Amino acid sequence: AGDATAVSIVREPLPQRQAAGEVVLEVKEISKSFIAPKAAGRAKSVVLQDISFDVRAAEVVGIVGESGSGKSTCAKIVLGLLHPDDGEVTLLGEPWSSVAEAGRRRLRRKLQYIPQDALSSFDPRYRVRNIIAENLPGADSRMARLDRIVSLLELVGLSADHLDRVPRSLSGGQRQRVSIARALAAEPAIIVCDEPVSALDICIQAQVLDLLAELQSRLGTALLFISHDLGVIEHLCDRVLVFQNGRIVEQGGAEAVLRQPQHAYTRSLLASVP
Ligand code: ADP
Ligand code: MG
Repeated sequence: AGDATAVSIVREPLPQRQAAGEVVLEVKEISKSFIAPKAAGRAKSVVLQDISFDVRAAEVVGIVGESGSGKSTCAKIVLGLLHPDDGEVTLLGEPWSSVAEAGRRRLRRKLQYIPQDALSSFDPRYRVRNIIAENLPGADSRMARLDRIVSLLELVGLSADHLDRVPRSLSGGQRQRVSIARALAAEPAIIVCDEPVSALDICIQAQVLDLLAELQSRLGTALLFISHDLGVIEHLCDRVLVFQNGRIVEQGGAEAVLRQPQHAYTRSLLASVP
């Protein structure tokens, strides 16, 4: 029985994995404005306007757009950290309002988040083992949980020596690996990645991206992948949404959009790549 509990997510199929093609995330006609502070005249700025898209099981959908185009605001609304003024977000067929209700933690866990630098989202007093354990489903014995934490660390290329490290003692790349392990611990249907490698050195960026791509294809987790880096988007994404001033100006297959952009804004984005 000891062996049976030492489940690795590599060898075992993920429970409740969605059938291919099923809509995991649906964003329907969301809009969001911010009101400037009194000193700035209380002007209303529209940050997102009528954004609609969906993400299907095992799909990687990219969002590109220049700084300030509303990408992170969209991510925060998807994650339930911000409320849209209009429109609705649906996770696995449930509207966010019901996802957020008490007692819906199981559903909430199906949506995970990898921020630009996880340092701010990790409890600084937590060790790596606690950061990952926090996201594991309950019920298993202590030993089984430890086994699972170690296999998640291995999955992201970190040895068990990292179990007792605290976040600030890790490099940026190691922290993103822990962040990925923490997300996977919850067995998510979808992970929202907001510029997950932008804070890293170039060669570390490639390593973390390769890891994400490999795990995504192995586990079939859907990704909503936000990046201003078009090369990364083309490499990783099936589909891409181009954001300009809070609107989707173009969308389609990543290769088609980036090789044969139809919209002038997409062309100018591509032209600005060094
Ligand atoms: P991106 O991630 O594409 O760079 P953001 O979603 O972060 O864009 O920001 C879009 C716009 O919304 C920016 O002009 C930003 O200044 C504004 N904005 C974002 N968050 C807030 C906020 N909490 N209050 C006021 N304005 C905000
Ligand atoms: Mg952003």
